[in-house]
Amino acid sequence: MGEKMGHAIMVALPYQGHITPYTNLAIKLASKGIVVTFVHLEFIHHKLPQPDPFSMPRDSGLDIRYTTISDGFPLDHDREDDNYWESMFQHFWIRVDEFVGELIRSEPDLAPFLVTDTLFTWQTPVADRHNLLKVSFWTEPALVFSLAYHVQLLRQNGHFPCKDHVEEEIDYVDGVKSMNTKDLMPYLKESGTRSLVHRVEMKAFEEVKKADFILHNTVYELESETLSALNKIQRNYAVGPISFSKNLSAYAVSRSLWSESDCSEWLQSKPPGSVLYVSFGSFLQASKHVVGEIAYGLVLSRVSFVWVMREDADLPSGFRDEIKERGLVVPWCDQIRVLSNPAVGGFLTHCGWNSVLESMWCGVPMICYPLDYDQPTNRKLVVDDWKIGINLCEGECVEREEVSEKTDEFMNGGVSERLRQELKKVGAKLHQALESDGSSEANFDQFVKDLKAKLAG
Ligand code: UDP
Repeated sequence: MGEKMGHAIMVALPYQGHITPYTNLAIKLASKGIVVTFVHLEFIHHKLPQPDPFSMPRDSGLDIRYTTISDGFPLDHDREDDNYWESMFQHFWIRVDEFVGELIRSEPDLAPFLVTDTLFTWQTPVADRHNLLKVSFWTEPALVFSLAYHVQLLRQNGHFPCKDHVEEEIDYVDGVKSMNTKDLMPYLKESGTRSLVHRVEMKAFEEVKKADFILHNTVYELESETLSALNKIQRNYAVGPISFSKNLSAYAVSRSLWSESDCSEWLQSKPPGSVLYVSFGSFLQASKHVVGEIAYGLVLSRVSFVWVMREDADLPSGFRDEIKERGLVVPWCDQIRVLSNPAVGGFLTHCGWNSVLESMWCGVPMICYPLDYDQPTNRKLVVDDWKIGINLCEGECVEREEVSEKTDEFMNGGVSERLRQELKKVGAKLHQALESDGSSEANFDQFVKDLKAKLAG
């Protein structure tokens, strides 16, 4: 009898910044001859614009099966509440366990394995009960991974939990250079240790140490020292930026949870490089105060802008009248399409990792205003290490005068030209990694080879 075909079982973490790369990973796996069962939580399924997001790839010959799983809560339940995640954290694995058991029984001729988002923390109990290989997919930079992976080392050096306003060098983590405690992720700091995010991250990093394979949505050449050091401990494969993998665009898969406003007509009327794109991602919104200061700052400045605001209730009253034709506020857009538009010359971003990768790919310099999670650490990579962005504000508070000065200088002065030169080098690394002889392609192929060998063994 021949070898059984590999069968990736994938349950998506229900956040936009995770759904996009995870969906792309599913297509990439299927394009390598692996059968994929892709599962959305039911409430996410109900938000999707298409009833089956994978119908196009399937029509093109990929074996991706799509289904849903209930999280046990009514569709209209408030899932932004900590109690929801508390319950998911404790009990969701039982539902997945049942689902996986049935799926495996119904497909005896396939060789199943689990592919989970590193931050979805049910992998070990489910894999152990069904004797499955574990692939963990990390959607943030390797630097963030390495810091969270080494919390015990941070603890031994007095940096975990890290006192909130302490600024000390972290020079003892193999593969991490010139890192200051001020740039650590907030969930590693004293004030963050009581949060649910802290507990989820800690659990995720206990689990990932038991994974058979770890995939990173980054590029080896960008973070080579960090990835090489991690590789000495566990097998890590840098396969990013997964969203730009060759041929993915051929499969018209909808990844957005909200309908996209078309900005192209508005952008068309603007000179090349003149528009600032502003977005704080899909999940967190900046506080009302911050939104107000940025809004007034943009009014005082001379720049044209597209601002993504999921809910624009926090915008100061009269803002739209003030900006008139100079600014466009939309609830959601196709971000990659906007960043690729020649009119766009800068990105005011919260530094979500997908946004950073997309900006680098499209060659758009960034003004950074990180809010939480990995974003302060990502900012450090963008501004301090790669020099492809600047900080929106130097102090802790954002003020309208600074916003106005910074954005004017950034869009009209020499700043972004300097950043653009660096962006060319960094962007080239991303593009090269996805060429057929590039590192991410090679790493993905190596991963599939190693996986198949382990499944067969
Ligand atoms: N995005 C989008 N349209 C928008 C705003 C964001 O498609 O109007 C996408 C963006 O392209 C990115 C994702 O949403 O892929 C946001 O992920 P990121 O990691 O940047 O931030 P998060 O939302 O996870 O904080």
